[in-house]
Amino acid sequence: MHNLCMSDLIWKCFRCNLSFKDDNLAGIHKKISNHSVTKVKTVVA
Ligand SMILES: [Zn+2]
Repeated sequence: MHNLCMSDLIWKCFRCNLSFKDDNLAGIHKKISNHSVTKVKTVVA
C-alpha cells in the first residue's frame, strides 16, 4: 500500500508570502532580502 497523502517540506517567507521548494532559492532570498524563511510542511492531496 502506498501512502496517497503526501506531505512536502517547503521554505516560506511570510513577509513576501512566497514559498520555495528549493533550499538554494530560499537561501538566496534570505540573503538578498534579509527576510527570515521558515520551513513549513505542506500537504499535497
Ligand atoms: Zn521575503
